[in-house]
Amino acid sequence: MKTVSSLLLPVGLLVLTALAVNFPGPPPEQLTSFLRVYPWVVWAVGVLLGLRFRRGRVVFALLALALADRVLERFHPGAASEGAARFAFAATALLLPLNLAWLSLAHERGTLTPRGLLRFSLVLAQPPLVAFLWLSYHPGLAALLERPFLPAALVPAARLPHPAVLAFAFAFVATAVAWARRRTFLEIGFFWAVAASFVALATGWQATTTYLATAGLILVIALVEATFAMAYRDGLTGLPARRAFDEALTKLSGRYSIAMVDIDHFKAVNDRYGHDVGDQVLRMVASRISTIDGARAFRFGGEEFALVFPNKSRTEAAAALEVKRKEIANDGFALRGEDRPKKKPKRVEPPTTGTAKAPITVSAGAAEQGGRFLKPEDVLRAADEALYRAKRTGRNRVCT
Ligand code: GH3
Ligand code: MG
Ligand code: MG
Repeated sequence: MKTVSSLLLPVGLLVLTALAVNFPGPPPEQLTSFLRVYPWVVWAVGVLLGLRFRRGRVVFALLALALADRVLERFHPGAASEGAARFAFAATALLLPLNLAWLSLAHERGTLTPRGLLRFSLVLAQPPLVAFLWLSYHPGLAALLERPFLPAALVPAARLPHPAVLAFAFAFVATAVAWARRRTFLEIGFFWAVAASFVALATGWQATTTYLATAGLILVIALVEATFAMAYRDGLTGLPARRAFDEALTKLSGRYSIAMVDIDHFKAVNDRYGHDVGDQVLRMVASRISTIDGARAFRFGGEEFALVFPNKSRTEAAAALEVKRKEIANDGFALRGEDRPKKKPKRVEPPTTGTAKAPITVSAGAAEQGGRFLKPEDVLRAADEALYRAKRTGRNRVCT
């Protein structure tokens, strides 16, 4: 799923766009009409979805793309003086990637919020500002925006002025960094929107509108993907959430085991160390459970986790769980003291006396498909019963 939406889909859309705008011979009427409405549909649908899903960054990126498109359309070489057209192109090619980079790195602040509206005006103010600068300082400013300073070998797209090439290089790096940091579909979308914008400006005037619309479409699809992924992923632990588990159950077939894991006396952890530490413990346990061999882990709810072991017996599942149970019980949870550095130190210091540790243990129950337990719901109930047996018989253990 992830590769399809992160690589194949954007590249596929770019290829389709290239095929559409480079149609051999006279393009059929349907294609021409489609390409005429295509950008408007993208802007309209995209802005509505961005507002609905509260993703101001997407709304403003679409606004920046649409503004760039309108400016290039208005100052087309045929429609404006050559100087104005070149300046409009150079300014757009410089500002569009910078705007996309900014919005990909920025935190989400909504659309119709004070900060959102400030962003809205920051994007909207650029064309008039550029026009003002043009009227006040041309032709010196135009020359500055077009001055070549990069070695010729480094600049593949002869059409793009060198400051714009630098701006695009920066935008590629910035969106890749945002992607590496946050790892959501939205950041992937921003990266590919920069790529589509680059193609839009590097290939010349005729096809810019269509490529910019494709940049917008990539962002809109990324927005939908990101929202969809959010519904299936638990925000605190990063594990697939209950909804994903329920769906996984309906797809199970053949032999499998299901396990339930519950943190022992977790209420006491919250009461004693506070909810923040409780959350950190949840994350720690989740990350350990997620590395159990041959299993998919889910956050079932609260401090309970569910695991699905395809093609595994309950004994195999219990053995894998037992390894993790011991690890968790032995390591406990290191409390972040006041003096403990926020980041991991480069050098590991030998532990000083009395590193505060909270003892953490988990109980687990596992059951397998077969015999009395035919349906996934039956297996799940059996795993739950096994978990309660583990609780009743003293906790910090695995039952089947
Ligand atoms: P047992 O050993 O029997 O499982 O006892 P327990 O205290 O773990 O079980 P109980 O069900 O009584 O309490 C679960 C607690 O988990 C209650 C709730 O405050 C806490 N909890 C649930 N979800 C979260 C969460 O997302 N973050 C934090 N910090 N606590 C949570
Ligand atoms: Mg519980
Ligand atoms: Mg518990």
